[in-house]
Amino acid sequence: MQKKKITVLPGDGIGPEVTREAIRVLEATGKKYDLSFEFQEFAFGGAAIDEYGAPINDDLIEASKASDAVLLGAVGGPKWDNQPKDKRPEAGLLGIRNALGLYTNLRPVTVYDALVDASTLKRDVIEGVNLLVVRELTGGIYFGKPRLIEQVGNEEHAVDTMEYRTSEIERIAVAAFEAARIRNRRVCSVDKSNILDTSRLWRKTVTKVAERYPDVELDHLLVDNCAMQLVRNPKQFDVIVTENMFGDILSDEAAMLTGSIGMLPSASLGDGTGLYEPVHGSAPDIAGTGKANPLAAIASVALLFRYSLNLNDAAQEIEEAIQTFLGQGYRTADIASDNKTKILGTSEVGDMITKLISEKQTNFQE
Ligand code: NAD
Repeated sequence: MQKKKITVLPGDGIGPEVTREAIRVLEATGKKYDLSFEFQEFAFGGAAIDEYGAPINDDLIEASKASDAVLLGAVGGPKWDNQPKDKRPEAGLLGIRNALGLYTNLRPVTVYDALVDASTLKRDVIEGVNLLVVRELTGGIYFGKPRLIEQVGNEEHAVDTMEYRTSEIERIAVAAFEAARIRNRRVCSVDKSNILDTSRLWRKTVTKVAERYPDVELDHLLVDNCAMQLVRNPKQFDVIVTENMFGDILSDEAAMLTGSIGMLPSASLGDGTGLYEPVHGSAPDIAGTGKANPLAAIASVALLFRYSLNLNDAAQEIEEAIQTFLGQGYRTADIASDNKTKILGTSEVGDMITKLISEKQTNFQE
């Protein structure tokens, strides 16, 4: 049995609750592929601030670098909202992405048949939506310098800086075109090139990279138009590639096509260890109630199998188990659309998905 090292960063709020179920699914699926896992868990984000006064530390970074993959829950909460910015839980997220050089964030958005009615949008708009948002993760305004708030005269003055280099745009464009090649071969690059110089460089660079991918169709869209198109006709998209902040906002908008942010997984990839986490935050409003939807965390495990362990079959098995689970009428409270569905709590969802995967193994062996 092959052993894989996984660094686990459960984080805050519902982070530990959904991560627990994701790990159960990871182990149940791994077993079928002759894999066992060695887990190393660290306090991260707010939990780490409480434990040792900082959201992230070197031990955690070193362990993550030495792992086959990192599984993360979510960070943050009102308790830490008034910390100085380098001591906020979110600084941990930026820190780990930077330390692992995770410049590509993949966010698949799949509208499951069984959940079409959980969306606030009309059935004919969202039925069959299957798109991938490729977000640049280590550049742009979240990292640009200078950034500051200063007193100028009798008022405060704040600055953030958006910056991009050609090489940063090139590598994310390559990731998008490569992803499109195993999908429907269409890339939509999103920018604000009518206003921003960073966007003008973005568009020029993506267009140049496209020359290496004559088999993939490239379109450009302004970010404001893309925000509209995502709710008007999301089926037009295959792969959307965009810079860090636009991707942050658009992928949350895309998340809502699925009916709940609790359904959306993500993979963050660079040249070394990949990191897998649900798109949602720590949901302090439901933390501790056992109501959190763990499906995004579980679907993130599918991505972990696909991108870090090269086991696409295992990934598909998890994705099919989620489909089956929903098809059988099971829901968590956030995606319940009518009173015919059976509402389950976080750990019950983990029980069901694990059982579906294990039962399929029994059938397979028979
Ligand atoms: P959120 O994603 O935590 O919650 C938004 C809404 O969606 C809430 O009503 C919540 O109950 C619901 N929700 C989210 N995930 C759910 C799930 N799995 N199951 C059921 N319902 C779910 O976003 P927020 O409220 O804006 O932020 C809360 C905290 O999380 C903040 O401190 C924020 O900074 C942090 N945050 C962290 C991450 C991350 O760790 N990657 C991402 C976004 C926000």
